[in-house]
Formats: sequence, C-alpha cells, structure tokens
Amino acid sequence: MNKKVSGLNSYHFSVGKIKLIVISDGFENIHEHQLGDTFKSMPDGFAQAFAQLPQPYPFGYNVLYLETGGERVLIDVGLGAMGKPDFGFFLERLEQESISASQIDKIILSHLHLDHTAALTAENSPVFANAQIFLPRLEWEHWIESGRAPAERAEILKKIFQPYQERLHFIEDGDVAAEGVTVIALPGHTPGHCGFMIESAGERLLHMVDTLHFQTQIAFPDVSPFFDINPELSPKTRRMVLQRLADEALLALTYHLPFPGLGHVAQAKDSAGFIWKPIERIAKP
Ligand SMILES: [Zn+2]
Repeated sequence: MNKKVSGLNSYHFSVGKIKLIVISDGFENIHEHQLGDTFKSMPDGFAQAFAQLPQPYPFGYNVLYLETGGERVLIDVGLGAMGKPDFGFFLERLEQESISASQIDKIILSHLHLDHTAALTAENSPVFANAQIFLPRLEWEHWIESGRAPAERAEILKKIFQPYQERLHFIEDGDVAAEGVTVIALPGHTPGHCGFMIESAGERLLHMVDTLHFQTQIAFPDVSPFFDINPELSPKTRRMVLQRLADEALLALTYHLPFPGLGHVAQAKDSAGFIWKPIERIAKP
C-alpha cells in the first residue's frame, strides 16, 4: 500500500491501481462520562477499555474519495451545511485536493443517515452537478417509502434527494457499483446498510462504514449503540465482518473510528473479541 499524506485531514493511499483519499468531514471529542449517551448497557471492562484510548476520544467522520475505471467516485459525502460549524468540512477539503464537486462522476451511499448524505444538497440545489447517485434499495424503502421511519426524517431525505431524481440508482448485495467496488449488505445499523469490497490488482480493502462506531466495539463486538436500528442483527453482522477481516488479513476502513479510520483486525487471544491495529498518520502538517 503506497501512501502520501497531504495534510492533517486527508490520507492518500492506493489499493492496486485505485487511488484513494480518506478525507475528514470533522470529528467529535468524546469523554468517558459521555459513553452512556451512546450505549444503554456496557459489559464489565468496556468503559475501562475506552479509558485506555487517547482522551478525549476523537470520534471521526471519514469520507472516501476514489479514482477507479476513469471515474471520480465518493463513498458517502458527510453533513455539509447541516453540520456547521463543527462538521461538514468534506467539500472544502476535497477542493484543497484540487478536486471540485462538479468533477465527481459517481456517489455511492452506504445508508441514508444524515451524517453520510446531507452534503448532497444545499438550499434545495444539487451540490454535485454531474454525479450519478447510487444508494441501497432497502434504505430507500425503509426511510422514504415504508412509513416506518419518522415522518420528519423522511421529509428531510426527500428534500436531499429531490434535485437528483433523474440520477438515482439502486444498489444491493453483490452489485459492482464502480470498477473494483462491490456492494456488501451489512444490515443491522440500518435495514439496508452496506459496506464495500474495494479490489484491484490483487489488493483489497473492506470498507465496513457504520458496522461499528467506537474502537471499543472491536474488543466487545456484541455491544451496540442505541442508534443501531436492529440491535439483535447488528452484533451478528459486526462479528461476521470482524472475523472475515481477521481471517483474510484484510485492510479495513470505518467511517467513524478516529481519522483516517484505517487498520487491521486480529483475533484476541484472551477473549471472544478482536484487536484493532490502526494505521497511524505518518506525517504531521
Ligand atoms: Zn454514521
């Protein structure tokens, strides 16, 4: 894996012939006493394991840019104006890489939570003038069509997607959404939540997106945050993905682990959990 660091908030690397940049949309400092805001019940050792991590813990928002098959592709887009002043920096930081929103050919969405989608639209206008939008069919059904999602959220999402009506495409498990980018259904966090296997010239990266949110869930895969919609299913999906990452020694990317959210997973020897080996930033600005 070649890497070049261009700044504090962007991380350049490659997977085979695919060029990638992880770009931070912002981060949130979390203190130990706030853990109870996210997790209803925590097993013995969970809070202690969290306290061992750098404090305050920088909960990340990691957007992925790729160049593959002659296309410029994004996986998720961040919060945009909705996140300001604390979040929503992705677009400015993309421009710092000399890439403009109008140059993006394809946007692939993992699920429809606003921290992954809201930057698509600003004041009812499309931010990405030329991009085709790919989103999980099950997410559209859940949030927009089923009536099961809160009506207020459905309205916000309709506004976000309205300017893209002619450019929406549905994806599901096994689809190739861009050259070397295969959709993997990872349900639990939301009904249609998807991850992606990114593969080129014998190298692979598994983007597990929101399969987990805190580094501590790698050692304690059965612990789910209150915002996992199906808390019975999400730990099963989490364990399946972590086991695969460990068994196949795959490079992993996550949306919410501390920037850049990249690392490897190993099986823990003394517990039923796993160990996270993050790829550290290699240069300071
Ligand atoms: Zn998220």
